[in-house]
Amino acid sequence: MAPMLRLYNTLTREKAAFTPIDPGHVRVYACGPTVYDAAHIGNARPIIVFDLLFRLLRHLYGEAHVTYARNVTDVDDKINARAAERGITIRELTDGTLSLFHQDMRDLGVLMPEDVNVAGERPRFLEPRATDHIGEMVSLIEGLVAAGHAYVAEDHVLFDVPSMPDYGSLSKRPLDEMEAGARVEVAPYKRSPLDFVLWKPSKPGEPSWPSPSGIAAPGRPGWHIECSAMSWKHLGKTFDIHAGGIDLIFPHHENEVAQSRCCFGTPVMANVWMHNGFLQVEGEKMSKSLGNFVTIREVLNDWPGEVVRLAMLKTHYRQPIDWTVRGLEEASRTLDRWYGLVGDASPAHEPPAAVLDPLLDDLNTASALAELHRLDDPASLKAGAGLLGLLGQTKSGRERASVQASGIDVAAVERLIEERRAARAAKNWAASDQARDALSALGVAVKDNKDGTTTWSVIK
Ligand SMILES: [Zn+2]
Repeated sequence: MAPMLRLYNTLTREKAAFTPIDPGHVRVYACGPTVYDAAHIGNARPIIVFDLLFRLLRHLYGEAHVTYARNVTDVDDKINARAAERGITIRELTDGTLSLFHQDMRDLGVLMPEDVNVAGERPRFLEPRATDHIGEMVSLIEGLVAAGHAYVAEDHVLFDVPSMPDYGSLSKRPLDEMEAGARVEVAPYKRSPLDFVLWKPSKPGEPSWPSPSGIAAPGRPGWHIECSAMSWKHLGKTFDIHAGGIDLIFPHHENEVAQSRCCFGTPVMANVWMHNGFLQVEGEKMSKSLGNFVTIREVLNDWPGEVVRLAMLKTHYRQPIDWTVRGLEEASRTLDRWYGLVGDASPAHEPPAAVLDPLLDDLNTASALAELHRLDDPASLKAGAGLLGLLGQTKSGRERASVQASGIDVAAVERLIEERRAARAAKNWAASDQARDALSALGVAVKDNKDGTTTWSVIK
């Protein structure tokens, strides 16, 4: 039996032991990116946090027994507008943005479908795209209309919120408060101001698909329905864990719950709902107007992905995180120290309990990292860090990568080192100093070791 994992559940507002519906097949869904533009550093947080959850579940239940689906939203107003602006199809736009996103994720050490899926076996990591699931969305919508939970009005299909007595059970917002919020601008075709769009007409030039029955004109889906459709198709009507950013609780996740439960007549959509906290930059909310809007790529241009990952995991996932250069510098120093300690050691067979235990307590990464700091056995340190997706390189591999990234001409460096060695042997100190200066001009520091060898490293 797997050791007990405890998770905080937004649905119950409590931390409780996690019991999978089927321990032979643990199923997790996370809301993924809307691929209209380069992802910002705030988007990296749920991806890294739920990658850690996926790694932990694989460790506990076995790699073949966990399915993780993280969707890609590849149709929405911003995508349509951006594609029209550039005169390309939404698929062309979203393919391009998605491949940039994948590169970001790779650099952050996030497991990717190609890392975990095994040919001929049930997929372990799925990345479903909304536009590949329009048929499932239409059948869900038709099911909701048939069940009396949705209605057609002016070529829209709307979810009938008052038809669901316990609507609001996830966000726990009082109904009158939600109504007051929704009243600002009520579309004339809505029966209740809380009703939300499942399907809408496409404007001229926008992508469109055949509409659910009862609507002749082609149209396109609302946002919330895509996650109900994709989680149903890949994980079933009810599954174990649904994850996403805290900003998605209302309305997105509340509406997913309403759609799935009312269509399938189930008491829950997912048993456990996990939400990561906000990210702010240097103490301020990130926004384009404040000029502190940072893309993941901009951060990765200055810092190795592993530093970014460690900096992100230092804060517990439910706490707000303050993203600072200081935090990155600290993470960088920690990794330097750890790589120095592990050298080229192989990881221990099992991660140490001291590191695993805090992770089992609602992914307490802050405490797991504190335990890693206490380890001095290279094999345990490497195995413990490996569970967090860290210290994946060898010390020498990391040095090679840093030389490569610096663009230094290795042949020229080696030539100068040889010149310097020859000059020193001939006691020609002027020539030796000249070679050393030329090396530092290339960004390289040399070190003469006690054993007579000379090693070099990139000046940071
Ligand atoms: Zn979603």
